[in-house]
Amino acid sequence: MQESNFSHFPPPRPSRPPTRHPAQPLLARIGDALRRHQRLIAGIQWTVVALYLFFLLAPLLLPLPHEGERILGSLRKFAQFLFWGVGWPLIMASMLLVGRAWCGLFCPDGTMTEAISQRGRNGSIPRWMRWPGWPCAMLVATTVYGQMVGVYDFHPATLLLLGLPTLGALLTGFLYGRGRRIWCMYLCPANGVFALLSKLAPLHFRVDEAKWKAYRDTPFRLVCPPLIDVRRMQRMSDCHACGRCSGYRDAIELAPRAPQSEILATHNVGTAEAVTLLFGILGVGTLAMTWHGSRWFALFQSALASLPGQGGLAVLQQYAAPWWLLVNYPQANAVFTLFDGLCLLLVLLAGGGMLALALWLPLRLATAIAAYAGLSWQRLSLALVPVAGVTLVLGLSLFTVKHLRLGGLALAWVPPLQAGLLAAGGLFSLWLAWRMLAVVAAIRWLPALALSALPVAAIGAIWLEKLF
Ligand code: SF4
Repeated sequence: MQESNFSHFPPPRPSRPPTRHPAQPLLARIGDALRRHQRLIAGIQWTVVALYLFFLLAPLLLPLPHEGERILGSLRKFAQFLFWGVGWPLIMASMLLVGRAWCGLFCPDGTMTEAISQRGRNGSIPRWMRWPGWPCAMLVATTVYGQMVGVYDFHPATLLLLGLPTLGALLTGFLYGRGRRIWCMYLCPANGVFALLSKLAPLHFRVDEAKWKAYRDTPFRLVCPPLIDVRRMQRMSDCHACGRCSGYRDAIELAPRAPQSEILATHNVGTAEAVTLLFGILGVGTLAMTWHGSRWFALFQSALASLPGQGGLAVLQQYAAPWWLLVNYPQANAVFTLFDGLCLLLVLLAGGGMLALALWLPLRLATAIAAYAGLSWQRLSLALVPVAGVTLVLGLSLFTVKHLRLGGLALAWVPPLQAGLLAAGGLFSLWLAWRMLAVVAAIRWLPALALSALPVAAIGAIWLEKLF
């Protein structure tokens, strides 16, 4: 990511931010409204911070809910449902629909890190933080840790999984940047996922470089929280859609775009980004969302337990660990032994790695057959973003559906909707692969496309098995 050239911008001079003519497109006016109503947005952001802290901390003062207690009968259960049953599925869906507006307009960690960095030590960003593997490493670490501590079912685990990133955001904000969101740019565990899903958003802040250069008036002061070089911005992956640049130099406006446009226009895709997609989301993420209650996980456990000479493993079955390492709530009949923890770790990391490899191999072969200089496996992997986005929304909403059904709702319309979304995501992915391979000679095109379809089919099969 290139850094903005606005950090040393001269002090703001009085200038009237442009207002658009009512005949201008509605989206452009919405973008401008975001810029003009920064105080209102700050009020909303701090309200979200207050609600977030309340639902994170207040349930700790209450006892564990009884078995079968309803969502509305217990603040702990309600908070869990709010975070994992409502919040996360909606946030993931919003990435596909409006880009990273959650990050720029609502995220409590983003709000706090930006606020504290305005009064912090303003250090320069250390080199280690710029390592491109952080998005994948943070995503995998939080996904695996979340499963080990039972994040969906137990509030103390939620406190750890959400609270630790919040502390990280505060510390990073205090140490680095001047009113910028350094945490969000480099270390946020969701950064890699959000950057990939927002590629499909049908909205973007469009930059007109010719207008930018031709602008002769005094522009208003521009502060881009994720330090984007706005003048050259081509994609929504890094943009937090905060709207602060809307109308800058008459060259930036919120505008519609085709959902496939960013993926098809991106030619240089980094390996780190592709690995985040294949290993972080489709490998580890898929297994994390499907292992619970699955036949294959039970089979793996019994196969491991029956290995010859597994006396050491038998010992592991007798011990548990503290709740902040492994699920340990005897009062709720939920205790993972060390053996359970080992199985889960192996399934998520080794199994996630093998699944990622199985998805990567056909893509690698497809690009080898295509033999087209502009088509790397990294680029072809982006065709899987739609199906990955749909599975994230489906996987995270499993918790929502389960609890609504426990609450007495039949939700008969949910399975057809899930199947429809899965089919739509899969077809969109196939169509993207088709478009990317369209440049290839006809004789190579068909085998390359058939190979590109294999990962989509594999993901579809895993989810059909889970959902039906
Ligand atoms: S480019 Fe920067 S300032 Fe403009 S909307 Fe995106 S995050 Fe906000």
